[in-house]
Amino acid sequence: MVDPPRSCDVVVIGGGILGLAVARELLARRPDSDLCLLEREDRLAAHQTSHSSGVIHAGIYYEPGSLKARLCVEGARLLYAFCEERGIEARKSGKLIVAAADSELPGLDELERRGRENQVPGLRRIDPDGIGEIEPHGRGVAALHSPETGVVDFGQVAAAYAADVEAGGGFVATGCGVRRLVAGGRSVKVEHARGSTEAGFVIGCAGAWSDRLAVAAGAPAEPRIVPFRGGYLRLRPERRGLVQSMIYPVPDPELPFLGGHLTRTIDGEVLLGPSALMVGARDAYRISRLRARDLGSTLSWPGSWRLAGRFWRTGLTEIRHAASRRAYVSELRRLVPELSERDVLPGPSGIRAQALDRDGKLVDDFVVHRTERALHIRNAPSPAATSSLALARLIADEAET
Ligand SMILES: Cc1cc2nc3c(=O)[nH]c(=O)nc-3n(C[C@H](O)[C@H](O)[C@H](O)COP(=O)(O)OP(=O)(O)OC[C@H]3O[C@@H](n4cnc5c(N)ncnc54)[C@H](O)[C@@H]3O)c2cc1C
Repeated sequence: MVDPPRSCDVVVIGGGILGLAVARELLARRPDSDLCLLEREDRLAAHQTSHSSGVIHAGIYYEPGSLKARLCVEGARLLYAFCEERGIEARKSGKLIVAAADSELPGLDELERRGRENQVPGLRRIDPDGIGEIEPHGRGVAALHSPETGVVDFGQVAAAYAADVEAGGGFVATGCGVRRLVAGGRSVKVEHARGSTEAGFVIGCAGAWSDRLAVAAGAPAEPRIVPFRGGYLRLRPERRGLVQSMIYPVPDPELPFLGGHLTRTIDGEVLLGPSALMVGARDAYRISRLRARDLGSTLSWPGSWRLAGRFWRTGLTEIRHAASRRAYVSELRRLVPELSERDVLPGPSGIRAQALDRDGKLVDDFVVHRTERALHIRNAPSPAATSSLALARLIADEAET
């Protein structure tokens, strides 16, 4: 195993889809620069990037004018083009956002307004018959159809970004966690598992751990990352016909999560979920995993208590869904009435790196902080995988100013 260089122009921390996209963009802009990407795990894309729904979002949900809105629409366009160029399968299978009851129609209206303002291509409103034509087993009083929403394997996309980084002369090290950044006048010393690297500039894309290095390097304590586990079920192979492409609910507008949905993934299986449960470790793929440091960090943050005070009802529902497959299936049955508990098997899980402010608000938009000779990506939740190429351009612009 070759050690990272003792010095270089730029160090990118984190080998998820975002760190890789940023490294790729920087090398494309400055092919002569020395760049080094350091990933703590022994493989790339080990966390959020390879534990997602794999959906290329079209940009419907996000507040018009927000970074999320702008970068999702642009990012999806760039991503489809990238996949086509590189022979990565990305299928525009389309999605329905379904209002299951009249009470959800105002929420659907608001999504339609946002989608139109965000210039989501092809978005249209459909009635119950229209739902049946697209999803014969779906049911609802109205829906939005987004034909440009698609699916891909983000792990495969990340691997293609990594190949570009290496082809561009970048050095990619796995098993090389960064412990500390020490800024000196003309460079930053990056202390890591295999020594240290002196860098002209550092960009932190450390996902669920992004707040730690940033705060230690002098960035504000706010926001803190709080891990939200997304648990999935999967449909038995013989019942996959219940879902043709994607069926989403109208989400709670107070929360940045999209609600449990049914997704036919790029490899043809159908995932149900994810749930959204606050957990006791930033890698709680098993729900029972607790890490004292992570738990302490969540419990000592005033925002966690304020969030729990405001959303205790939602929290209880999430606990019920995590504890009982029957309860979760019954929630999803609002969208697909034929679904039964016998149709599902246990599925994978992912941990969202969700930023939470001091007042208990889940931070919705992407957040970037600057310290001496460093940029830290502090909140890059969904749809950051979709937006990765567009977000990387923005981060590279920011790094160059
Ligand atoms: C359940 C779930 C479903 C989702 N569904 C979708 C979806 O359908 N569509 C979509 O667009 N997005 C989705 N997302 C969001 C998307 O996965 C993330 O926004 C995206 O992967 C973020 O990429 P990242 O590179 O910032 O994070 P990550 O992939 O988590 O990468 C961060 C990396 O940093 C490394 N790291 C951390 N600390 C250090 C350190 N000190 N030193 C070195 N390395 C370090 C970690 O090991 C990790 O590999 C979903 C997320 C989850 C959890």
